[in-house]
Amino acid sequence: MTPKSARIRLDQVQARIRDACRRAGRAPDSVRLVAVSKTRGPEAVRTLHAAGVKAFGENYASEATTKIAALTDLAIEWHFIGPLQSNKTRIVARDFDWVQSVDRLKLVRRLGMHRSPQRPPLQVLIQVNIDDEAGKAGCHPEQIQTLAEAITAESRLQLRGLMAIPAPAAAGADPESFRRMHECFDRLARQFPGVDTLSMGMSADLEAAIEAGSTMVRVGTALFGPR
Ligand SMILES: *Cc1c(COP(=O)(O)O)cnc(C)c1O
Repeated sequence: MTPKSARIRLDQVQARIRDACRRAGRAPDSVRLVAVSKTRGPEAVRTLHAAGVKAFGENYASEATTKIAALTDLAIEWHFIGPLQSNKTRIVARDFDWVQSVDRLKLVRRLGMHRSPQRPPLQVLIQVNIDDEAGKAGCHPEQIQTLAEAITAESRLQLRGLMAIPAPAAAGADPESFRRMHECFDRLARQFPGVDTLSMGMSADLEAAIEAGSTMVRVGTALFGPR
């Protein structure tokens, strides 16, 4: 990816976010952009960072660790967004600023145990399997409450909200799934101070997600090109 193509793609994505915010009557800065850099090399991250992206999302712990180590000279906020195995919680707690894919109590305990007191608390989103898909990461909406209480009880973790990857459809996710996520988010935010983040929307459907109240979109293909 050249600096020029990075700039053009980023401009396009930012314009899409801005337009969606305007249609929804929301402030243009009410949605944060996380660039999903899975499978991309450190140089592509460097180029997009230079174009102005400050937050990057990674799915695979071992791939991410190598990449993060190659980019320590940049001020990047790293988000872990992939399915999380409990034997990876130590390196995720060490290398990342946010974890968006917490979906069971065992992960809460282990991330809390491994996060160093020298680092700021790990920012945590609970992943919700909103379309109840078999074999997909994410908790059931009924389990949000219990997980939220467990996260708040851990001094090294800070609960920030919810994340979802709704079932894929031809034109992106069903807007109804985004609306149900927003209801879960509203309920959580009323109960837990500090909950301010609803992470949903990707390259194909960020507009629908923003219209339903997303505050953070995770975009790969539209920024880096096809994987
Ligand atoms: C890959 C991925 C994305 C980005 O998907 P694109 O369609 O490339 O924008 C977002 N979120 C998660 C969890 C992903 O794994």
